[in-house]
Amino acid sequence: MAKNNIEDVAIIGGGLGGLLLAIFLADLGIKATIYEARSEKPPVYSGPVMLLPNGLRVLDRAGAYQQVLEKGSLAPRNYSMSNDHEVLDCRECGDRDTFGYVGLRIYRQDLVDILDSMVCERGVAVIRGKAFDHIVEETDNHVTFAFSDGDMVTCSLLVGADGIHSTVREYIAPNTELVYSGILSILGFVPKQYVHLPYPDYPLPAAVVGPAGMILFGWSDDKVEEYPLATNYKMEDLGRRGWQALRKETSTLLTMMRKGYEQWNSTIQGVLDHVRDDSLFIWPFYSVPKLAQWRSANGRAMILGDAAHAIPPQGGLGANLTFEDVQSLALLMAASKTDGSRWMANLNWWQSYRMSRMDGVRELAPKIVNRRQGQQECVADYAWLYNIDVARDVKEQLSEPTAKE
Ligand SMILES: Cc1cc2nc3c(=O)[nH]c(=O)nc-3n(C[C@H](O)[C@H](O)[C@H](O)COP(=O)(O)OP(=O)(O)OC[C@H]3O[C@@H](n4cnc5c(N)ncnc54)[C@H](O)[C@@H]3O)c2cc1C
Repeated sequence: MAKNNIEDVAIIGGGLGGLLLAIFLADLGIKATIYEARSEKPPVYSGPVMLLPNGLRVLDRAGAYQQVLEKGSLAPRNYSMSNDHEVLDCRECGDRDTFGYVGLRIYRQDLVDILDSMVCERGVAVIRGKAFDHIVEETDNHVTFAFSDGDMVTCSLLVGADGIHSTVREYIAPNTELVYSGILSILGFVPKQYVHLPYPDYPLPAAVVGPAGMILFGWSDDKVEEYPLATNYKMEDLGRRGWQALRKETSTLLTMMRKGYEQWNSTIQGVLDHVRDDSLFIWPFYSVPKLAQWRSANGRAMILGDAAHAIPPQGGLGANLTFEDVQSLALLMAASKTDGSRWMANLNWWQSYRMSRMDGVRELAPKIVNRRQGQQECVADYAWLYNIDVARDVKEQLSEPTAKE
């Protein structure tokens, strides 16, 4: 193995970030293997994912946009509605003229299937039921790691795309404690025939804000048979085991969902009456605190996506930001395929580029929430969020005669 050159990459985690990274790397001529802890394919909950112009731009560069457009539903605006059906806010989720893309919603399973089939078409190995456990050794040109079954692999680079509960993160930022926001979301589906909108052009998807809290519901497409909905609760941290136990208590979850029932308008009451109890899923909102490093000392292991910067769902940002991480990192890896002399400098640049993007997102996200709750005076800079072009930024970095760190 030539010093520092990037010949093969182990991707830990076959979620949204891991699959997309494998697609980019295959197209850039780098051998990648995905190791995914789960042996079964479908995720537990397959609700909608909101894709915004910044994420769609990356999917377009990967060649996935057309399929995503066909499977998803355009959602140019997300509405915030009062309990008596007044529009409190309307968030622009992109448009073709200004941002190049209109925001869209797609079921997570459809998005995973699209990426998964693109990975298969490229002949990338996806090894399921294989959980990363720890790094055995890292030098300045390779990394050796072990799985929970004791098997070991050596490769040029290891990327932790292993989500919010990342194990790879233990090596890069040991003992990181997730931060619980105090909010639990309960999600589910309601068959469309039980959704009686107050007027025919009632805007969807909507976050309905009332005295009993907030309910997000609705799809913007007629072909959909069920509407997803989500309610939020203040709740103490039950810890992983406690949440797992709560997840199975369907009747408790239904009772929680219907808290303040009599205060809701009749549309929401109808939705709450008919939510399918076998569709219930919980999502306690945790975030990864700001980390000092996303890469190891020798630059042979790194984390991206939720492993590095999971945030509570404040406007459908997580997957879109993950896609930005992925494309920018893949392009830098490709630049070090046959000459790794600038790898460390480029990786350091990537880390600070992505960390400063996350600083901006942490400032923006609460403004999105405030606006959703009707605070019109709160200004959120969506152009900053949507306009990023990571390919252009990486190109600029690579064209510097001496790599900027
Ligand atoms: C209910 C819900 C709704 C959301 N809605 C939106 C939205 O509308 N818009 C948006 O942009 N974002 C949304 N997000 C956030 C988005 O899903 C995440 O930001 C995104 O999935 C992060 O991708 P990732 O690849 O980093 O992690 P993940 O997609 O979580 O993938 C991590 C993968 O790693 C695997 N793994 C974990 N540990 C190991 C191990 N030790 N070894 C091997 N594999 C391992 C996991 O099984 C998993 O498959 C939502 C999240 C949730 C939960």
